[in-house]
Amino acid sequence: MRRKLAAGNWKMNGLESALGEIDALAAAHKATQTEIMIAPPATLLSRMVAHAGDAVVLAGQDCHSEESGAHTGDISAAMLKDAGASYVILGHSERRTDHGETNDQVRAKTRAALAAGLKAVVCIGETLAQREAANTIDIIGGQMSGSLPDLATGENLVIAYEPVWAIGTGKIPTLDQIGEVHDFIRMRLERRYGAGVGRSVRILYGGSVKPDNAAEIFDVSNVDGALVGGASLKAKDFSSIISALDASAD
Ligand code: PEP
Repeated sequence: MRRKLAAGNWKMNGLESALGEIDALAAAHKATQTEIMIAPPATLLSRMVAHAGDAVVLAGQDCHSEESGAHTGDISAAMLKDAGASYVILGHSERRTDHGETNDQVRAKTRAALAAGLKAVVCIGETLAQREAANTIDIIGGQMSGSLPDLATGENLVIAYEPVWAIGTGKIPTLDQIGEVHDFIRMRLERRYGAGVGRSVRILYGGSVKPDNAAEIFDVSNVDGALVGGASLKAKDFSSIISALDASAD
């Protein structure tokens, strides 16, 4: 059975004063079955460790594909691990758009993350133009072929399906559209990695998940959790989403 995962992406938000949100989250979810992950900005990562305790696992928001070297401003997977992360988000659409990250680069970063002992949350998703042109499934298939490493397990790989047009916009696909893409991703994972691994990799939905729409999204087949941006910044909102995930059917 796949353990549900509520993943929060703080993006470029959060100063030291925000660490209290993690205290509140950890206090509210001491015995929660759902795995809770927060990806703070790198500046907060090591300071967040003491606040997260055993209740919350931490993630980086990106890593470099190389172990070390002359890459000003970049962070390696080993550095994230050293700072207290156990996960890293890779190929987020904001990285693909703002930094021109390609599928090849995302795959190289994913390999580096797994080699360093981090678990990778690899993001894929179509733009609005691609959806309107009925290309969603082709785009998702291409991103999976291009971004995922050849070797992965249900332990070290998580896929986040995030329609680009749903991120931070308040718009979400219909539940049927979410289900269609998640079922397709599951089928492709099974084909690529075999049934055992393919069935054990978790698939998150991301894009404007809020306390008031979380429960219906979590009832869709092959939705094993969520990658949440804005609503993960406040413990109260993220907590409601975690509770909806905890209560959802398997
Ligand atoms: C995200 O950052 O991955 C995301 C889904 O953001 P939001 O929840 O704000 O749409």
